[in-house]
Amino acid sequence: MLSGIQHFRFCKRQWALIHIEQQWEENFRTIDGKLMHERAHDNQFREKRGERIISRGMSVFSKTMGVRGVCDIVELIRDDMEGVAVSGREGLYRVEPVEYKRGSPKKTDVDVMQLTAQAICLEEMFCCDVPRGSLYYGEIRHRLPVLIDEQMKKEVREIFYEMHELFERQHTPKVKRTKSCNACSLKNVCLPGLQKENISVEKYILQRFDEM
Ligand code: SF4
Repeated sequence: MLSGIQHFRFCKRQWALIHIEQQWEENFRTIDGKLMHERAHDNQFREKRGERIISRGMSVFSKTMGVRGVCDIVELIRDDMEGVAVSGREGLYRVEPVEYKRGSPKKTDVDVMQLTAQAICLEEMFCCDVPRGSLYYGEIRHRLPVLIDEQMKKEVREIFYEMHELFERQHTPKVKRTKSCNACSLKNVCLPGLQKENISVEKYILQRFDEM
């Protein structure tokens, strides 16, 4: 799943728990995020605003990366100089993905990487370059433009390669405690605290007996 890149970038173990072990726990953030995406998707809805066609909930895929997913919004902007032909429409259009996020802009690049993955899918589907996209953040109610370059695309391809490799081995990485653990929606499943002691099962049992 394309959206797995945000989990993978946040924490490889979190990604493996969700996408390999099928573990999931809802909390306020995950439910609020899901509702926001449902509103943005409004399944397969298309509208035209001037020279702009807005397509919501578009299914996208990339054969070269071996991923599929859904774009919250894909905007087709009339551009007879740099655009591409779109089936059933007159003129040429630039293609730009818009990803909706419930919170505010993050210090990490997880959202940008997800947007870049969407851009690669759209490039393959529309046979064009997609050098721009946007991230909309619910908390600031604002859309931020993102420039997508070749280095970012290369990084995204490498991430998906690593995800495929772990998935084929069905391997869940060990806990690596970071500040992210406090905000992790899966901390009750992952139990990062247990890893802190880093002792064998035998030693753990003997210690518990000693405490009795
Ligand atoms: S609790 Fe920490 S180590 Fe465990 S999945 Fe979440 S972020 Fe990763």
